Amino acid sequence: MTQATDLNPTGLANPITSHLAQELYKDLNRQHFEGKLPECRIEISARLTRTAGKIWPRTRLMRLSRSYHELYGQAELANTILHEMIHLWLHEQGLPSGHTSLFRHKLLQVGLDDRLRALPVPARPYRYLYRCPTCRSEVQTRRKINSSCGHCDRVYNPRHHFKLVKQLTEK
Ligand SMILES: [Zn+2]
Ligand SMILES: [Zn+2]
Repeated sequence: MTQATDLNPTGLANPITSHLAQELYKDLNRQHFEGKLPECRIEISARLTRTAGKIWPRTRLMRLSRSYHELYGQAELANTILHEMIHLWLHEQGLPSGHTSLFRHKLLQVGLDDRLRALPVPARPYRYLYRCPTCRSEVQTRRKINSSCGHCDRVYNPRHHFKLVKQLTEK
């Protein structure tokens, strides 16, 4: 880990890369599954923000949230991978791969206690600022909206249609 290629331009101590994820996958496979799980494609996704990770056992694809793991770090990255691996482990045995009682049992066995849920996912940042042309009240939203001010009229009224003031910068 001292090679220059491991240096991370953003300056994070533990950059989240698919290479790192693959290394963890191999270690965890040996530790908890006798190395029997098949290889799995792992993508670090900037778009996955509502959940820590996701796996498609049939196509052997795992997606891990970049923002979540940049926030919680490498130990949590291993936890997420291990959680997703249990889904795959069940599928490989021809068993239902959801959060079944067997899933929970294995979860306890691998030391993830009874944790089915990820840590709290940070709220996505607000991206738009709107203002009511009548009362000047402002709202921040994550998505574009097409509605009118609730202070000025309880039902939709085009006279109080929110106007986009500005797009807030990301990050
Ligand atoms: Zn799960
Ligand atoms: Zn208003």
